[in-house]
Amino acid sequence: MSGQPDFRIAVLPGDGIGAEVTAEAEKALRAVGQRYGHQFVLEHGLVGGAAMDAAGEPLPAATLALCNSADAVLLGAVGDPKYDDPKASARPEQALLGLRKELGLFANLRPVWVYRALAEASPLRPELVEGTDLIVVRELTGGIYFGRPRKEGEEQALDTMVYTRAEVERIAHVGFRIARERRRKVTSVDKANVLACSRLWRPAVEAVAEDYPDVELEHLLVDAATMHLIKRPRDFDVILTGNMFGDILSDETSVLAGSMGMLPSASLADGRFGLYEPIHGSAPDIAGQDIANPLASILSVAMLLRHSLELEAEARAVEEAVAAVLEAGHRTPDIAEAGRPVVTTRQMGDLVIEALASG
Ligand code: NAD
Repeated sequence: MSGQPDFRIAVLPGDGIGAEVTAEAEKALRAVGQRYGHQFVLEHGLVGGAAMDAAGEPLPAATLALCNSADAVLLGAVGDPKYDDPKASARPEQALLGLRKELGLFANLRPVWVYRALAEASPLRPELVEGTDLIVVRELTGGIYFGRPRKEGEEQALDTMVYTRAEVERIAHVGFRIARERRRKVTSVDKANVLACSRLWRPAVEAVAEDYPDVELEHLLVDAATMHLIKRPRDFDVILTGNMFGDILSDETSVLAGSMGMLPSASLADGRFGLYEPIHGSAPDIAGQDIANPLASILSVAMLLRHSLELEAEARAVEEAVAAVLEAGHRTPDIAEAGRPVVTTRQMGDLVIEALASG
């Protein structure tokens, strides 16, 4: 191996269980490096409450510089009860918006699998959800959350939804590219019977679809989509949607899997750069007890390998190791049936590494 690293990863563990689960994800990344002969250089940065403690702000310039010089970012979680005053001028969660904006992260990806071994953990009937394998591709930097003008008020308030054709085309390309690597079906979700932005969205998505004739495109109104996701989740492959609908639908889909501790996410910029994190927060209620489920963070590593480093075989190896550990019956408390034996955060990380080494 030469002295030059193959890949540089910025690691931002953050707060609460963020640090605990990220430590296990780093172990998995190192194990992938060993098995496949890659040299990953992992460089740590401060973010969230941990950064406020050490540097007085949630997203120090040094952290941004570290991210900008890396091939990808692995984030734990931010949020600390001691900084919970909603009126405070600085809050740990501001780091997330800052990272999205400064790193140009415009596409949010949230895959949901319902593992056979965990179908019982879903609030829906196992025969309905088992085999679900979908991904929500959400536009992250436009739409009603960022539109201007905006006016607060007690008698009248105003929000503005804005989408440009270029923004829609950019996210649509991400959705179709991902569909090509999966089951080649895109469900575009909008509200074209009511919203002008959706009447821009729909033809723009159809125009992009012409570049991907091998991918099937269907449209669903968002109200119908919320029902179909519960009634027939297995039928979905890629769900492509705007910022607000994606926010709501990705939370709805996350419930299908049974635990927040299982679900990874990615936020992508133009090119291959991306930030990867579990969907859960810093979980102060269980922090410091070595009981958090690290699988969402470990599966975020799989997404990082796939989308930023283009190491598909390595990504699959991580996903298969996680599936093997679950099939073997190992559970952290959040996914365990009552009264069954459980493993700790660190033990779960070690089990995945063992499965990776023997896979
Ligand atoms: P949370 O996701 O931290 O926790 C919700 C519930 O799920 C808790 O009961 C927690 O114990 C459980 N849980 C979450 N992840 C788990 C895991 N890996 N294993 C086992 N159980 C897990 O959400 P919250 O409690 O609403 O928020 C706590 C803090 O996290 C807040 O400060 C919030 O602002 C922040 N937050 C950060 C992010 C992020 O960093 N992306 C996301 C959501 C919330």
